[in-house]
Amino acid sequence: MFIEMSRDADHGGKGWGFSTCLWAPIKKENGAQWPFWSKVRQVLPGDVVLHLKGIPPNAHFTGFSVVASAGYKTESRPPILGQWAFSKEFFRSDLTDYMPFPMPISLKSIFSTRKEELSEYFIENKTRSVRKNIFYVIQSARLQCLNGAYLSELDEQLAGIILGSDFSEESEVRSQDVSVETAHVIRSVKARIGQKKFSDLIKSNYGSKCCFPGCDVTDADFLVGAHIARWADRIDLRGRADNGLCLCLMHDKAFEKGFFTIDENLNVKISEVQESGQWCMREVAPYVVNGFRLAVSLLHLTH
Ligand SMILES: [Zn+2]
Repeated sequence: MFIEMSRDADHGGKGWGFSTCLWAPIKKENGAQWPFWSKVRQVLPGDVVLHLKGIPPNAHFTGFSVVASAGYKTESRPPILGQWAFSKEFFRSDLTDYMPFPMPISLKSIFSTRKEELSEYFIENKTRSVRKNIFYVIQSARLQCLNGAYLSELDEQLAGIILGSDFSEESEVRSQDVSVETAHVIRSVKARIGQKKFSDLIKSNYGSKCCFPGCDVTDADFLVGAHIARWADRIDLRGRADNGLCLCLMHDKAFEKGFFTIDENLNVKISEVQESGQWCMREVAPYVVNGFRLAVSLLHLTH
């Protein structure tokens, strides 16, 4: 998770606006790198971004977005550049699914009501061997935003302090801290974070490759961690790695649509002939007819 701190509504202008992307110059004007900008290069699809909008201290946490594309370097320029016009190259990452809080959460009130926890977190961070780049500092015994902390790190603990909710997967949102509507947004974000963790685990278990026979897709942007039993059906299997398959987007869709199923021995099967599209007939059916098994090591199935 990350926090994006953006002062202005334009955020770069058309095509670069607030909640459509993250962007930052790749270096400072003096040529120095800045960790809160370089972080844009490090985000991955599925990462969650909490938006802090406005000029501190009058800023508000306004909602969440989900990263759609891994961060990349580009020579394209935002139409509204202001003080960043010196830069020839930019880091950019596209965002999707902006989920606004019905009531934006005031930074001022967080800094006053959570001062103790935030101070503790800040001091603890200082003792870490690898410090996290966080969005605030303690100055003259007061909390304030770190100038230029455009994209900062947000772990479960810090998210919990800010949003008044334990961010571990199964915990409930403490509704006394936020409105019912905001709690709803937080809950759906937590579900996405759970999904992302599951997906990352599955991808790494499968060596980041689609496990459908003969498929050679390895690009992380085109892979998903799919559930064998759908979450809704089997709550007991939720989040379990042995309930997951690493599939490319096409095979995931084909699986979801029921063009093929998988039995307990990992045989690819089709229950009945489907009136499927050309792609499926060409790419899926031959493997089904020939009784191929998924390229899965049994290691993944040990309970
Ligand atoms: Zn595939």
